[in-house]
Amino acid sequence: MNLHEYQGKELLSSFGVRIQRGIVAQNAQEAVAAAKQLTEDTGTGWHVIKAQVHAGGRGKGGGVKLAKNLEQVEEIAGQIIGMDLVTPQTSAEGKRVHQVLVAEDVYYPGDSEPEEYYMSVLLNRGTGKNMIMYSTEGGMDIETVAEETPHLIFHEEIDPAIGLMPFQARRVAFNLGLSGLAFKEMTKFVSSLYTAYVKSDSSLFEINPVLKTSDSKIMAVDAKVSLDDNALFRHKDLAELRDLREENPIEVEAGKLGLNYVDLDGNVGCMVNGAGLAMATMDLIKQAGGEPANFLDVGGTADAARVEAAFKIILKDPAVKAILINIFGGIVRCDRVAQGVIDAYKNMGTINVPIIVRLQGTNADIAKDLIDNSGLDVMSATEFQEAADKVQQVLS
Ligand code: GDP
Ligand code: MN
Repeated sequence: MNLHEYQGKELLSSFGVRIQRGIVAQNAQEAVAAAKQLTEDTGTGWHVIKAQVHAGGRGKGGGVKLAKNLEQVEEIAGQIIGMDLVTPQTSAEGKRVHQVLVAEDVYYPGDSEPEEYYMSVLLNRGTGKNMIMYSTEGGMDIETVAEETPHLIFHEEIDPAIGLMPFQARRVAFNLGLSGLAFKEMTKFVSSLYTAYVKSDSSLFEINPVLKTSDSKIMAVDAKVSLDDNALFRHKDLAELRDLREENPIEVEAGKLGLNYVDLDGNVGCMVNGAGLAMATMDLIKQAGGEPANFLDVGGTADAARVEAAFKIILKDPAVKAILINIFGGIVRCDRVAQGVIDAYKNMGTINVPIIVRLQGTNADIAKDLIDNSGLDVMSATEFQEAADKVQQVLS
């Protein structure tokens, strides 16, 4: 589960990580009130207005703008709220902006130039350890840095059983070329950031940029936080931060029905029991010249109600030109599933795309008879290749 920048920053701040302060606003009037409040709290004269959507690269897409007075705050907030923000990380249609973060300007002039760094915390699956990845090259795409100047990216591996050692936090500050106050600030920043990562059961923090202000404070100017869904049960407060407007509506609905559904770009809808078989089925579809429109694991109980729910979910995608149902009857009996398909089909009235059903396993032969004699426009198959051939046939 991903958080908005403003939620991520609040989380970080609650663990003592210094952040660029801000107040979220739903409309231009609220933005002006937020800006006034921030000026009172922080003394800032300028404000940054930042679109709150689940996508990075907002700056490039015009979703982050500096306002030098309250009129500009109102004008910019009015422009950004309601826009469809297109960034390198969104689709071509972009993402609708519902709210903005009004933040204090932290790039103020002073004794030194502000400096931007990159820092993320994540799990290194290769070593089974947590990792802090950081770079002097902040504010830009880390992918570009990795490609063009990989020697400017550093890693610090942390044994989760031991935790971050003070010398490791100092090494981060040293490698970033810091000294004096900024060095001390960075060690504190790194250790509170790591604590926040562990205590919130996060799977990714990406802070880009981490800023050294002109008076040597170290703070998070941006915050991408991904929480581990499997640990959300012990973070009820964080689970409540979920913003369904940012998620794929079909996936949200499938989740409510207990279906494991992932929306994809292709034209063949899949209904499969078991994740492994679902992956193999997607390969099969590709080999038959199609593209899977989704990944869908209906789980162990493929009864009529679930099959009907799955049909409805798959058919919400207008790109679907055919549906392949591939069920292995190990725990479920194939004849039950077949009856489920028939009942669901009848309940739904008409389904305007061809359906191919492959049932294999317990009572597969009875299932095939049921389908073939149902009088419905459903093709049956028993072998994997047979199913692929039928997909190819209906697509061409
Ligand atoms: P992203 O584009 O989605 O990654 O959004 P960021 O939060 O990283 O903001 C984009 C850019 O806006 C940053 O890299 C900064 O250069 C700039 N920015 C952010 N906060 C301030 C600020 O307080 N003052 C100024 N002048 N620029 C800022
Ligand atoms: Mn950023």
